[in-house]
Amino acid sequence: MARIILRPGKEKRLLAGHLWVYAGEIQEVCGAWEPGEIAALYDARGRFLGKGYFNPASQIAVRLLTREDEPVGADFFRRRLTLALDYRRRVVKNAEAYRLVNGEGDFLPGLVVDRYGDYIVLQLLTLGMERFRSLLVSLLQELLVPKGIYERSEGVGREREGLLPRSGPLSGEVPSRVVFSEGNRRFVADLYQGQKTGFFLDQRENRQLLSEITAEMRVLDCFCYTGGFAVAAAAGGAREVLAVDISAEALELAQQNARLNGLEDKIHCYQANAFDELRRLVRAGEQFDLVILDPPAFTKSKEALPSALRGYKEINLRALKLLRPGGWLFTCSCSYHLREELFWEMVLDAARDARRTLRLAEFRRQARDHTILPSVPETYYLKGGLFQII
Ligand code: SAH
Repeated sequence: MARIILRPGKEKRLLAGHLWVYAGEIQEVCGAWEPGEIAALYDARGRFLGKGYFNPASQIAVRLLTREDEPVGADFFRRRLTLALDYRRRVVKNAEAYRLVNGEGDFLPGLVVDRYGDYIVLQLLTLGMERFRSLLVSLLQELLVPKGIYERSEGVGREREGLLPRSGPLSGEVPSRVVFSEGNRRFVADLYQGQKTGFFLDQRENRQLLSEITAEMRVLDCFCYTGGFAVAAAAGGAREVLAVDISAEALELAQQNARLNGLEDKIHCYQANAFDELRRLVRAGEQFDLVILDPPAFTKSKEALPSALRGYKEINLRALKLLRPGGWLFTCSCSYHLREELFWEMVLDAARDARRTLRLAEFRRQARDHTILPSVPETYYLKGGLFQII
């Protein structure tokens, strides 16, 4: 096994609980190695820091898997997976679909495992984790006994690791569309083609929150995707829900989700650019009791943050103008680079320009199964505020 020695002082991030070593922080790699293999990490004075996998082609050259001097094999992964499963058993209630493993948040960098009832979707996002594909598949079979496991290893993260996208069945049989329950609601997810692994599981707790306040409301769900919030709002007793997305495929599934819950008379799904549609609704003098804004990440880099902020502010400003007195806004950002303070500032800016005073009912993050390590800020991406205007 290779020994990786860090430059003086570069052990600090790891000692503070982070799991990454950047390429520029490595002083020397001793011994033979293959890209993606496990290596032992040492600080410049020769103190052992842990073991991780090494990919010299990636900016994040090492991701730590353990701080102990232990073998990283079947027993290790079985223990880590068992810990991840136990956590979900305690924090996820009344849901057949949730995230079982959330990469760094489960001390398993590069690995995402989502469960949709009897089916598992696996994402291997790094070269180091790829090497454990068959071991992980057999451990997941042993621990969960699913009907099938499907791989959806895609996204920019893989490109940065020098990997091509890869998807397809890994074991058993997985249908492309799977129906699952969440509380008293039912949803269909497209596990082969859908965004993420098929559904926005990270908004599950926020769907629940909204369903608790929507009785009798007229609701606008912008960026509705497959209608998660729209269905939650209607199931919570909303009088009428308008659900808007730019993608026809997403809307087809949103409609199906409305029907699955017998709510097709209340939910009106239609295709539009949310920026234009918000402007049109304001001009038309439409009013709502609740507007939901859950846009895609407007920026995936720090550099694009200013223009992303203008986009966020614009939709929030328009949404606020659509609210009746006493109306509610649930507004989100899943851009990691838009940190919490900036998100607040943006919402307050929009409120000032809309001449609305906001009261905060609740500040929200990604659901608890999408684990956050406070020592790894990159694990915290989804922010959401439920506000009422007063
Ligand atoms: N709220 C959804 C997830 C939203 S993901 C849920 O809980 O499931 C972001 C969605 O925004 C995607 O479905 C994408 O198609 C849509 N989208 C992106 N740009 C858009 C635009 N300009 N107008 C409307 N929808 C847009």
